[in-house]
Amino acid sequence: MRNWGNRLIKRLAARLAVLLVLVMLHGTILPGAAAFADPGAPRAIDLTGCITPQRPGDDPARLFADPARFDCRKSEHAWGAGDYWMRLSIPAAAGAAMAGDGDQAPIFRFVPQWQRMLAFHTRDADGRIVSQWFDDTDLSRLTGIGEGIGISLGGPEPPVTDVLIRIDGALNAYGLITDPQVLDAKGLHGEELVATAVFAAFAGLGIGLFCYNFVLWLTIRERFQLTYCLSLLAMLAYVWASSGTMAVQFPDTPHTTRLATCYLMLAFVGALSLQFFTDFIEKGKIPRRLRAIARNAGFASIVAALAVIVAPPEWRPLADRAYVATFMLLPPLGAAMTVIAWRRGSTAIRVLAIAWLVPIVVTMVRIASAFHIFDSDMVVRYSLIVAMTIESLLSSLAMSFRIKLIAAERDRALADERAARELANVDSLTGLLNRRALLEQVVEWSSPESLRLLLVDIDRFKLINDGHGHLVGDEVLREVAEVLAMRADLRASVARIGGEEFALIGTAEELSEAVALGILADIRSRTMTDGVRVTVSIGMAAGMVRSDDEWRELYRRADAALYRAKSEGRNRAVDAGQSGRSQQDPGSLAVA
Ligand code: GH3
Ligand code: MG
Ligand code: MG
Repeated sequence: MRNWGNRLIKRLAARLAVLLVLVMLHGTILPGAAAFADPGAPRAIDLTGCITPQRPGDDPARLFADPARFDCRKSEHAWGAGDYWMRLSIPAAAGAAMAGDGDQAPIFRFVPQWQRMLAFHTRDADGRIVSQWFDDTDLSRLTGIGEGIGISLGGPEPPVTDVLIRIDGALNAYGLITDPQVLDAKGLHGEELVATAVFAAFAGLGIGLFCYNFVLWLTIRERFQLTYCLSLLAMLAYVWASSGTMAVQFPDTPHTTRLATCYLMLAFVGALSLQFFTDFIEKGKIPRRLRAIARNAGFASIVAALAVIVAPPEWRPLADRAYVATFMLLPPLGAAMTVIAWRRGSTAIRVLAIAWLVPIVVTMVRIASAFHIFDSDMVVRYSLIVAMTIESLLSSLAMSFRIKLIAAERDRALADERAARELANVDSLTGLLNRRALLEQVVEWSSPESLRLLLVDIDRFKLINDGHGHLVGDEVLREVAEVLAMRADLRASVARIGGEEFALIGTAEELSEAVALGILADIRSRTMTDGVRVTVSIGMAAGMVRSDDEWRELYRRADAALYRAKSEGRNRAVDAGQSGRSQQDPGSLAVA
């Protein structure tokens, strides 16, 4: 069992290591490869928007004509929630480079955030303005894998020079719109391809890890396996929603409903990961109160996510800050539990700490970006996926290690139990079987052959105790036991069934009359400790032992024979013979 477990763990570890390397390669090389696969392909050009709050009476034509109204320096998040205009200039180079590819128009791509409505106005070199309006459901229908929306900037001639986006009811928690860029159809396709590959790899890995750990849970039934599986499900759901896959599969589900799903699922990822953490560490290595705080922190982030979802627009920014704040609790809580468990000598935490280092660092990066210590971009977006991938893999490795420890613990417990059981069957003074063990053996045997039982009782043993003391008496018992064990056939059972009374049981062949005579002779001739010499009396009987009743009958007859040996003068053996044969007068085999 232990070998099997070790082999399984080694094989799993090797497989996970290969997977990890593949995922890392995939994360670092693939996007690069996709971007540089065709050197002639125009690169995407990142844009920066200039912002102005909406005023009554604003219209696109006037705003296009008044660039001075827009602030290009104040960072996006500093504007807070509200209604805004964002203006972006399309560099002339973009249109020219992309048009070179054929008659394809450049595409304006961006990631919409939480708002009520988006209007998109373009102005071309001839001053012509084209407007499009997108409500929540329109945005969802346009969303591709990678969360981006691509809007064609018209035909190649005349080129679009400016884009003006009207954003109503922006939450502006992570920007008004993010990652605006111009690229061509090939570039957009490439971005979606990379995103699809990253998310599909994560989904495949997540589903694989889920199945593997769930099946493992069915046999091992450790709670941390279940919380791990649940956290994987939450991660998969989060990635499904945040990757835009949800919008592709359910285009009629409003855009903000998808964002709400992201909020909620990420909260579940946080809460369940923390729960996994506390479940995984050995009992007693994390103080109870800290466990409770961790559970409440996870719960709080779920409540905050729900608050973001149901809050009226004016309260939503506050709910969002509360949500981010609950996530800020996770790293210090994790750190506190790690330090305490580490100090208390937890082995599990040593493995887990390594697995969690990456996601903890990334969570901090995410929080920093949420608080606009630096701006959120695609790197941050993907880094969470990569971190979750690494965390899932390493946690799975950590779990294999923990399961190995559990298996070792169980093996040890089983060995201890076996040793204890053996000890319980042995008479501590003589090392022979005790009465209980002998009975068990006889019952287990239910031998098809006739068995012979020898009851051996030391003669006048009380006198030895009285004359030489109990310690000498004990030594004499040990020596008698030694003789019995030597004389009896190896297959026969020898037990001490009472103070100075022994029993031997085996087949007639194993316990022949010669054995009884040998015992009598050996003991009689032996000078024992302190010069003591003793004799024994033996009562013997044979018969079938297929039931308790038959055993009792056999014992009764052997005991009667022993009684007779005693009453006939001791130092002899009396055979009650085979049961069933009418042997009214059992004969003595030997006398002194
Ligand atoms: P008999 O020949 O009739 O069997 O006489 P006996 O003295 O051997 O029999 P009895 O049953 O009167 O006494 C048995 C004695 O065995 C009494 C008890 O003190 C002693 N005894 C029982 N268990 C132990 C033990 O573990 N160690 C020692 N030293 N003595 C024991
Ligand atoms: Mg006795
Ligand atoms: Mg006795």
